[in-house]
Amino acid sequence: MDRYFRLIDKLKRERTLSAAEWTDLIEHRSQELSEYLFSLAREEQGLYYGKDIFVRGLIEFSNYCRNDCLYCGIRRSNRNARRYRLDEDEILSCCHEGYALGLRTFVLQSGEDASFTRDRLTNLVRRIRSSFPDCAITLSVGEWDEASFKAFFDAGADRYLLRHETYNPEHYAMLHPPSLCAQNRRQCLWSLKKIGYQTGTGFMVGAPGQTPEYLAEDMLFLKELNPQMVGIGPFIPHRDTPFKNETAGTLELTLFLLGCIRLMLPKVLLPATTALGTIHPEGRELGILAGANVVMPNLSPQGVRKDYLLYDNKICTGEESAQCRDSLERKINAIGYRTVTDRGDSLNL
Ligand code: SAH
Repeated sequence: MDRYFRLIDKLKRERTLSAAEWTDLIEHRSQELSEYLFSLAREEQGLYYGKDIFVRGLIEFSNYCRNDCLYCGIRRSNRNARRYRLDEDEILSCCHEGYALGLRTFVLQSGEDASFTRDRLTNLVRRIRSSFPDCAITLSVGEWDEASFKAFFDAGADRYLLRHETYNPEHYAMLHPPSLCAQNRRQCLWSLKKIGYQTGTGFMVGAPGQTPEYLAEDMLFLKELNPQMVGIGPFIPHRDTPFKNETAGTLELTLFLLGCIRLMLPKVLLPATTALGTIHPEGRELGILAGANVVMPNLSPQGVRKDYLLYDNKICTGEESAQCRDSLERKINAIGYRTVTDRGDSLNL
C-alpha cells in the first residue's frame, strides 16, 4: 500500500517513473491513492495557474475523412455519417461569435478532408490571423508533411493538436487501418515541435486492447516529447464502427491519468475533454479537480453539430455556443475555479 503512495511522491519529486513503475502504479491504483494524487495535482496546478481555467472555442469545420480509424464515428467507411463541411465564411463567422463570447483561442478541428488542401487551409489560417490578431489559432487537422505544417505556421497558426493515440506499434495497428502507423504519427509531432508550434498530443483511455504496459509507454512518450498540451479522454464506442460492442474507458482511470500527467508535466495545459463530460455528468469538473485546466466549448454552428460524432451520446450537440459556454462557466465557478478568456499560452515553453 505505502509503496504506491511512495511512487506518487517519487513522481512529484523526479517528474518521471520507469516503465515498470508506471505499470505497477496504474495496476494498483485505488481510491485512497487517487485522492492523494489529486490533492498533489491540484497543488501543482495552483502553483502555476492558480484557479484559472482556460476556455478554447472548438470549431469542427468538416467531418469528411479519408482515414478509417476503427474507433472513430466519422471514419471513411461509415455510410451513416451525414457529411458536411463549412466554407471559409462560415468558419470566420464561428470565430466572430466566439470572439464576442470572449474567447481568444480558436481550435479548428476536422477529419482529413482532401478538399481542404494545403493552400485552402493556409488561406483560411491567414484570414483568421488578420481578422483576429490577438487570438491564438490551434489546428487539429491530422497528419501532413513538414512543408505543409510549416506553411500553416507561417500563415499564423500557433498551436497544433495531434494525439499520438497509442505509443505501442502493435496496439496502434489494432486501432488503425494499415495505411497509418505509429511512427509516422510521432514523426509529425517532432516536426510540429521543431517548426515552433505549441504542440499537443494525447491518447484515448480504455481504447480496445489497451493494457497498463501500453499506458506506461504512453506516459514515457509524453515525458520524452514534453508537449505544451496533453489531451486525454475516455474511449467511447460509436454504433457504426467495428468497435461498437467494446466497453468505454472509465472515468476513474481517466482521472487517475490526468493527475499523473499533471505531476509529471506540471506546467502542461490539460483539457477536461468533452468525452469525459459525456461518460459522466460531472466528468469535466472532476477532471479539473484531478489536475485539468482547460475546457473547449463547441462553437460549431448548431445545424452541423450533431453530425460531428466521433462517439455516441456526445454532449452539447443541441446547445447554442453561448449556452454551451455559460453552462460550463457556471459549473466551473461552482467548484471554486474561474474561467479566463485570454490566449492562455502554455508555461511549458
Ligand atoms: N483528424 C484529426 C482529428 C481527430 S478527432 C486528427 O487526426 O488528429 C480528435 C480525437 O478524437 C482523436 O485524436 C481521437 O483520440 C478522439 N476520438 C476519436 N474517436 C473517438 C472515440 N470513439 N471515443 C473517444 N475519443 C475518440
